[in-house]
Amino acid sequence: MIYLDNSATTRIDESVVEAMLPWLRDNYGNASSIYQLGRQARVAIEYAREEIAALIGAHPAELIFTSGGTESNNTVLKSCSQESNLCNEVLYSAIEHHAILHPVAELSHQHLKTTALSVKSDGILNIEQFETLTMTNRTLVSVMHANNETGAIQPIEKLRALASDSLIHTDAVQSFGKIPVNMHALGVDFASFSAHKIHGPKGIGALFIRKGIDFKSHQQGGGQERNRRAGTESPALIVGFQVAARQAVNEMAKRTEIMKSAINLLRELLITAIDTIRVNTPLEQSLPNILNVSFPDAESLDGESILQSLDIQGVAASNGSACVSGSLQPSHVLSAMGCSIAEAKAAVRFSVSKDTTEREIRQAASSLFEIISALRNH
Ligand code: PLP
Repeated sequence: MIYLDNSATTRIDESVVEAMLPWLRDNYGNASSIYQLGRQARVAIEYAREEIAALIGAHPAELIFTSGGTESNNTVLKSCSQESNLCNEVLYSAIEHHAILHPVAELSHQHLKTTALSVKSDGILNIEQFETLTMTNRTLVSVMHANNETGAIQPIEKLRALASDSLIHTDAVQSFGKIPVNMHALGVDFASFSAHKIHGPKGIGALFIRKGIDFKSHQQGGGQERNRRAGTESPALIVGFQVAARQAVNEMAKRTEIMKSAINLLRELLITAIDTIRVNTPLEQSLPNILNVSFPDAESLDGESILQSLDIQGVAASNGSACVSGSLQPSHVLSAMGCSIAEAKAAVRFSVSKDTTEREIRQAASSLFEIISALRNH
C-alpha cells in the first residue's frame, strides 16, 4: 500500500515503540502513588513534560497532557466559556477542524456569542475582515496554526498583534513537528497538540495554557495535572509522545527536505498530466507535507469514486473531510475558500511523511491520471 494520508495519522516509529514498552510491561506504577513504582512513573512524566515544553518554548507548568487534539480543543472552549468564565464570545475560523467547529456550535446554543472568520480563496484567514471586528478582553479567538486539508499556515502572530487584549488559542496539531512552533513567537494563550501526527502513539496530546491564566477544567475527578485534567496519566503514551516530539523537532530540517521534494514532484506530475487541475494548497504559505487538488470539471466526476478507485489501486489518500455513513460530505474548508459543492467533494488531499519515497509518488500520480481519465470517459 502507498500511504499518502499522513495528515490523518502517521505510522508510529519503532524507536517510539521501544521507548514505550518498559512503561507498558514492567513500570506499571500509578504516577500518583507514593511508593517507588509510582515515583518512577512520576519522574518519567515530569521529564517528558520538561522536554516537550522546552521544544515549544514553554515552561513545564504551562503544559498538561490530554488524550489528543480533540480533547485539548474542547477543553479550551468549554473551560474558557464555562468553568473559568474567561470569555463571553468566541471568534473562530471557518476552516477549523470539527474538534473546534462542533463544540463551538454546541456552545452557541448555550448563549455564547460565536462568529466565524472568513478565509480568502487561498485558504488563508481574511485579515482585513478580522481588523474590522471589535474585540474585548473577554473574547477568545481560536484559529488553527495550519489547516489539515490544505496545509495553509495561518497568520497567528498578526492576530496576536491585532487582538492584543483578547485570549488566543491555536490548534497546532498539524503544524507541530512540521514547522517551528514556539509559544513566545506565536504569542498565544492556549495551544493544542497531538502525538499521532508526528509518528507517535494515538490517544495522547497536550494543551499549552499560558502561565497566569486562571484555568479551571470541566473534567472533574482526581487532582492530576495540577487539578487541570483529572484522570490517571499514561506514562507509556507520554513517553512515546516525548520521543516522537524530540525526533520531529530535531530532524525537522531533514524531514522537511524529504517531504517538500515529494510534494513538489507530485505537484509537477499532476499539473503536467492533468492540465485543468486546481491546486488548493497555497504553496508559498503551507506545510511541507500536504498537497490538496481538485478538478474544475468536478461536476462530471464522482468524488467518492476517485478515492475508492485510489484505494483499489493501493493508494491511501483522502479528501480530508468527514465521511458520514459512507457518503462523502463536501469539504467545509474548500467550501469556505469558494469552491463549488462538486469541487469540494471531488478534491484529493495527499499528505506525505519523512518515509514517503519517489517511487510511491510516481505510482500514486499515475494511478490518479488513470482514474481521472477513466471517470471522464465514463
Ligand atoms: N485538529 C486538527 C487540525 C487535526 O487535524 C486533528 C486530527 O485530525 C485534530 C485536531 C484531532 O486530533 P486528535 O486525533 O489527536 O484528537
